[in-house]
Order: sequence, then C-alpha cells, then structure tokens
Amino acid sequence: MSITEKDLQVSLKKYFGFSKFKGLQEGVIQSILSGQNTFVIMPTGGGKSLCYQLPALMQEGTAIVVSPLIALMKNQVDAIRSVSEHDGVAHVLNSSLNKTEVKQVKQDITNGITKLLYVAPESLTKEDNVEFLRTVKISFMAVDEAHCISEWGHDFRPEYRNLRNIIQRIGDNIPIIGLTATATPKVQEDILKNLGMSDAKTFKASFNRPNLYYEIRPKTKTVDADIIRFIKQNEGKSGIVYCLSRKRVEELAQALQVNGIKAVPYHAGLDAKTRSKHQDMFLMEDIDVVVATIAFGMGIDKPDVRFVIHHDIPKSIESYYQETGRAGRDGGEGHCLAYYAYKDIEKLEKFMSGKPVAEQEIGHALLQEVVAFAETSISRRKFILHYFGEEFDNETGEGGDMDDNVRYPKKQQEAKEEVKL
Ligand code: ADP
Ligand code: MG
Repeated sequence: MSITEKDLQVSLKKYFGFSKFKGLQEGVIQSILSGQNTFVIMPTGGGKSLCYQLPALMQEGTAIVVSPLIALMKNQVDAIRSVSEHDGVAHVLNSSLNKTEVKQVKQDITNGITKLLYVAPESLTKEDNVEFLRTVKISFMAVDEAHCISEWGHDFRPEYRNLRNIIQRIGDNIPIIGLTATATPKVQEDILKNLGMSDAKTFKASFNRPNLYYEIRPKTKTVDADIIRFIKQNEGKSGIVYCLSRKRVEELAQALQVNGIKAVPYHAGLDAKTRSKHQDMFLMEDIDVVVATIAFGMGIDKPDVRFVIHHDIPKSIESYYQETGRAGRDGGEGHCLAYYAYKDIEKLEKFMSGKPVAEQEIGHALLQEVVAFAETSISRRKFILHYFGEEFDNETGEGGDMDDNVRYPKKQQEAKEEVKL
C-alpha cells in the first residue's frame, strides 16, 4: 500500500481536525509507515504524540506505546476515543485493570479494533502480557520519553533498560520509534544503543527559542528586592518564579504579596486542592505570579507567560531549558532571568551526597555545565544550543542578540568578579 501526501492530510484532518502538519511530523510519519526504526527529537510541545498516533490509526495491527506517566496515557487514550467510532481503538494496559477489563482489552486487540495500546514499562515485563502480545499483530512499538532509558537523562527509569529485550520477545522486526525532548548528544547515543536501533532514521527539530531573552544576574543579598523590582516593572504580566525549597517558595510568595504583587505559592507540600486552586488562579489570571518549586509546570500550557525567574539556579541545563521554555509559548516576549551564586552550586552538590556514586558523578558533571553557562561571556543561546548538539551563529541566527552577554558584552574578568559577590 502506498500512502500519498494527500492520504496523510486527509487522515490528519479526519482524526485530529488539523489541516497542516507541524514541523517535522510528516517526514516522521512517513518513516514510521515505511516500517523503519525512527528516532524523534523535538522540544516539548513540538507535537510528538501525533507522530505515532496517526500512523497507528492508519495501519493494521496494534501499536504499543510505552510511556512512564499514567496520567498522560489516560489523557491520550480519552482524546483518541473521542474522535473514534469504537472505544476499543485505544486502551491502557496496567495493573489497575481488573480481570474483566483485561479480558476486554485483549479481545479488542485480537479482533483488530485496538490501534493504540498504552503500557507502562513495568506492565510490559509481566510474563503473561508478553506471551499474549506475541500472538497478535503489532504494527510498531513507540517508546515515548525515551530519555528515561539513559542515566544521563533527567528521569532515569531502570525498567526502560529491558525494553529492547521485551520487544524482541514480542516479535521479530517490530519497528521501534523512540521519542524524546532531551537533546543532549550523550542521551541520544544511549537511547539508540539501548533500543538497538543505530540504523534509525533520525528527525531532530531545532531547540532554538528565538523569542526568549536569557539573562543571568549575580545573586546577592538583595535578590528578593531585585525580583520584586523586576516584577513591578512588568506589572500585569504573567510570570513564574522558581525556588529550590518549599520554605523559600512560601517566604518569597509572602514577600511579593506584602509588596502588592498578586502572587501565590505552589509546591508539593500544599494539599492537592490548594495546588489546583492556585494553578487555576494563574491560568484564569486572577493572579499574576506563581512562586513555585519544580513541582509546578509539567503539563501547564499557559501561552502568555512573559517571564520565568530562577531565584536558585537549576541543577542542569536541561532543567533550565525546560523551565525557561514555559515562557513565551505564544511566540511573544519571554524574559528568562536567573540568579547565580557559586554557593548555590555547592548546596546542590551537598544534596546529592547521599546518592549512589555513579549518580553523584553524573549530577556533578551536569552542574559543571550549569556553572560554565552561568559564568560564560559568549552568547547564552549559542551555549544552550551547543549543549544540545546544535550549531548556532549568533551573528546571523534567529534571536542571536536576545541575551545579556550579546547585548551588553563585558570582559571575562569583570564577569568573574561580579559573580563572586
Ligand atoms: P510533545 O509530546 O512533543 O510535547 P504533544 O504531542 O503533547 O507535544 O503536542 C503538543 C500540542 O501540539 C498538542 O496540543 C497537540 O494537539 C498540538 N499539535 C500536534 N500536532 C499538531 C498539528 N499538526 N497542528 C496543530 N496542533 C498540533
Ligand atoms: Mg509528549
């Protein structure tokens, strides 16, 4: 069966209601439909899910989708069902299902109704699931959040290391699709190696966010006052302030409130009701600023966040990129301001001291990159993109002048002295 561009457009419209592919999607989908191993690296929000959902819906057999997050799997399944004639088109297979439900899932797969089967990696290691999947037609296997396979990724999950074995047991020559938003060359190598797909056709989108302005300021005793001044200068705009600890979040949120800024705290120590209330207040613009730990942000899709402030420097460039990436989703202004003091790096090192040695070494290496980034005098955008394996020329590239180092160049020496404060 040969699938034309027109067929793809028609299916895109039919299943998702979109009239155009986003970025590299079309090429990825063609690669999957041709049965090749495929590797997709796109920033968060790039549209990776559709890359495997559409070909799964268009092909015979069931696509197995491995994903680490049960909540996200459920969302995706609900979304697919809402545009299909049969609820069985997508299923989740996990330990929360009772016997009758499992039977139904298996029946739908056997009858060729199920096009997408979402599984957590630990469910795939269950012997009877593997035995069952061996007996049915599998179109391909998609490994979402594939960086979980790498110790160098920000979310290492040992179960991901077994996937290659399991896929081979389920069937010979099942095409594998790996997808991730982590762009570091080291993690990419790990993914290809561990999934045994060095032959994969690779699609990598640019990680450049030309509308974001990157700025690092030395962190001094007056950091809170400095943050308050910045927010007041940006009155009425939405922003997020990240702090390392819950305590700091509470204190800073209070300081902002005292200064007449509409701000609320957000961290995992607050009860679920308060958290969701504060999140809604932010989305509905009843408040302007959320002061938060990194617990805030996953899945938050507010397009007009105008600034992201890091009161404390993050533990890796990936984290910095993810967190700053929540600014300017709509393509408009996005100011990313981080405060840096070397003693915060030492604090982060200390946090790791109880962890296994291998983890500490990786954590240390990631932190050294953060230090280099904070102390660099070259274009910050160039630094970030280089870290992600991407060449960038800030003389000609889009957004090339959108950082403090390029706008206000300073001599290396001056920069060094300043950060010692
Ligand atoms: P990722 O997994 O890469 O972070 P998602 O798959 O969650 O991204 O998609 C991000 C958003 O982009 C979703 O809201 C999705 O509906 C939307 N999207 C995906 N493909 C298209 C498209 N071709 N046209 C318009 N919107 C799209
Ligand atoms: Mg995704």
